[in-house]
Amino acid sequence: MATDSKLAAPALVSVNPATGETVGTYRCMAAEDVREAVEVARRAQPSWAALNVHKRMEIIRRFRKLLNQRTLEVAELITREAGKPVPEAIAAEILVVQDAAEFSARHAVEVLRSESVPHSNLAMKTKRGKLVYEPHGVIGIISPWNYPFSIPATETLSALVLGNAVVLKPSELTPACALKLQSLLHESGVPRDVMQVVLGEGAVGAALIDAPIDKIIFTGSVATGRRVGVAAAQKFLPCVLELGGKDPFIVLDDADLDVASSGAVWGAFMNAGQTCLSVERCYVQRAVFNRFVELCAQKSQLLTVGDGLDRGTDMGPMIDARQLKIVEDHVADAISKGARIVTGGRRLEQLGPNFYAPTVLTNITHDMKLLNEETFGPLLPIIPFDTDEQAIALANDSEFGLAASVWTRNLRHGKAIAQRIEAGTVMVNDAIAGFGICEAPHGGFKASGVGRTHGLPGMREMVRVRYLDVDRVMMKKPWWYGYKGSFREQIHGFADAMFGNTAVARIKGALRSAGILTRPKI
Ligand code: NAD
Repeated sequence: MATDSKLAAPALVSVNPATGETVGTYRCMAAEDVREAVEVARRAQPSWAALNVHKRMEIIRRFRKLLNQRTLEVAELITREAGKPVPEAIAAEILVVQDAAEFSARHAVEVLRSESVPHSNLAMKTKRGKLVYEPHGVIGIISPWNYPFSIPATETLSALVLGNAVVLKPSELTPACALKLQSLLHESGVPRDVMQVVLGEGAVGAALIDAPIDKIIFTGSVATGRRVGVAAAQKFLPCVLELGGKDPFIVLDDADLDVASSGAVWGAFMNAGQTCLSVERCYVQRAVFNRFVELCAQKSQLLTVGDGLDRGTDMGPMIDARQLKIVEDHVADAISKGARIVTGGRRLEQLGPNFYAPTVLTNITHDMKLLNEETFGPLLPIIPFDTDEQAIALANDSEFGLAASVWTRNLRHGKAIAQRIEAGTVMVNDAIAGFGICEAPHGGFKASGVGRTHGLPGMREMVRVRYLDVDRVMMKKPWWYGYKGSFREQIHGFADAMFGNTAVARIKGALRSAGILTRPKI
């Protein structure tokens, strides 16, 4: 069962990455607790689904209003637990969630509306067909730490408004944010059993997949996503996998370099580079390469790194030592292969153990880890290119395909390039913002994942479709048993009447099929 309860071994300790202080200590759940939570949710879900959809929409809107009233309280909790500056917590978490709440409430009726299915086949004309959309039942959500409120919230809201119950397993690094989400939803009127949080490390996520849920929505790394996908496949559990990225940022020589360099610096360093949509590879046309690097270096040096709770902080800490170590490893590997640090490239120990300077690098080659593996840290490697073909080939030379951006004053040219990039979202003259557009589906190609969250495609992941068929005439069907006599010629004639290649063939077919309805059937 979900709990706010502090303690009992083994404990889950959530730590402020800027200061090292404890944000909270929680009970780590056992597999039996997870199974029980799912069973409780399963029992509660039918009456939640039976509520009028307008009632659920009202509850989701009440949650939106409550969150709006608590903006600063929740934003500061996100900052304490995940380190990002408060303005980023407001913009990329609280604002995004309010928008998503409104969006899911606005579109719930439409997503649940049945659609009639007209039949073109003459033999089916006595039927009325319908696509009926219904909630899956209990949806399991497993979420990461980097957007500890907005990722689980957007997924939970669309699942709930469509009549599902939710069991959420948040990252072990950010349990407090998930419990805050849970308590706001309960306070808004979502029944306690319909939305529960189960806390723990990866094993608790595995236990959730193992429990009798009806769908799993996973957001996290490619490595864990692969394990989740395999576990789900073993039990034919439908899944959405939102995984990592290595997003390219392509600057053409006609771009406004001031705007594009600000976009690159923000896109690479917001949330200390710990965003699935972070700018991880920056390709710049050779004619403007030096100027672009210079602008990025200058702007990076203007950033204030520190505790996200302090006013004026632009970039907070990395989430923990493990994440910082990956960044250091990628930088060391790049330097050993000839990369040049233009600015940054070091820890900021005076601020605390988890701070790393915003770093711009050049002399990059495609054999470096920082171009092949997700870094998830404040690195901006900048690479020159000459032609469109080269930029597209470089951008597509990755196992990932989450998002990408193209920067140019020529929008037609930008769109033409965008359409050739293998990524779930491609933006022209903006980056990352796709996550904040509630109408925009979020998800990747290739190793970046399967399925979508956000937007109407994301909501449609939360329902299953049933084909409902009603035959208004109670009669033996023309294709039932009684194959003796001339049935073979009649059915052949009927097929020709429907699909004969000429009018004459269709007329002849119709004549041959005469009597098909009245022939004797068993
Ligand atoms: P992670 O894969 O380490 O963990 C994600 C979640 O999975 C956590 O809750 C974790 O406890 C759980 N987990 C671990 N092992 C599990 C198992 N065997 N079975 C089930 N659950 C298990 O990822 P992270 O470090 O928390 O997050 C960072 C990663 O998430 C990055 O790769 C980032 O790109 C990705 N991400 C993707 C998106 C997206 O929408 N595509 C958004 C945010 C983050």
